[in-house]
Amino acid sequence: MLVDSHCHLDFPDFAEELDAVVERARRNGVGRMLTICTHLTRFDRVLAVAERFADVYCTVGIHPHEAGSEPAAEVERLVELSRHPKVVGFGETGLDYFYDKSPRERQRASFRTHIAAARATGLPVVVHTRDADDDTAAILAEEMEKGAFTGLIHCFSSGPELAAKSISLGLYVSLSGILTFKKAEALQQTVRGLPLDRLLVETDCPYLAPVPFRGKRNEPAYVGHTAAKLAELQGVDAAAVAAATTANFHRLFAKVPG
Ligand SMILES: [Zn+2]
Ligand SMILES: [Zn+2]
Repeated sequence: MLVDSHCHLDFPDFAEELDAVVERARRNGVGRMLTICTHLTRFDRVLAVAERFADVYCTVGIHPHEAGSEPAAEVERLVELSRHPKVVGFGETGLDYFYDKSPRERQRASFRTHIAAARATGLPVVVHTRDADDDTAAILAEEMEKGAFTGLIHCFSSGPELAAKSISLGLYVSLSGILTFKKAEALQQTVRGLPLDRLLVETDCPYLAPVPFRGKRNEPAYVGHTAAKLAELQGVDAAAVAAATTANFHRLFAKVPG
């Protein structure tokens, strides 16, 4: 069994055929899917997807792109929404200095709010980081000093320093279809050296379809292609990667039934 630890099943890309998309994932051995909230104002839709399918769970939070346009997240509100049995984590939050769609100060404040909710509940925080390694590492370390929390860096595409820092803080690293891209040699080199007991796989669909689907709409059924690349890089077989990434997912997202 595989787990798609990060997908966006509420996006309009899937609206026409959501049942078929979930069914294809199951047929391809994907036993759990975590659909990720990006807008607090659209949380109801995300939760509705998780409620519709027994094997789909969700998070609650605000993407860094929306940190400037959405009403600011409050710790109490996030904590309250996370009491629902299908809500198993916070985010996605973090820092995106590549697109800079929201003021950086708002991104940082929102990031810290999500971490506070994670700390208060024991549920993990899903971190998005792009072109912001230094600030992401600094905030994670500072916040960890204030009190422990769990989480992961999703769609990891940063350098080895952020991977090492995150793992040393007790966090996990999730790999997307980027890992299969020809030009991702630096990332592949980094991933060779990471401990398999801290790694997860994801699609981040509808974006970032792995080879051989690159450029097409992505979906959870394709997560096995990223897992296969991870197996090759780690020098283990596909079954070992499936077992490890699934066990890691359940250790981190402990609220999801096994
Ligand atoms: Zn993201
Ligand atoms: Zn995402």
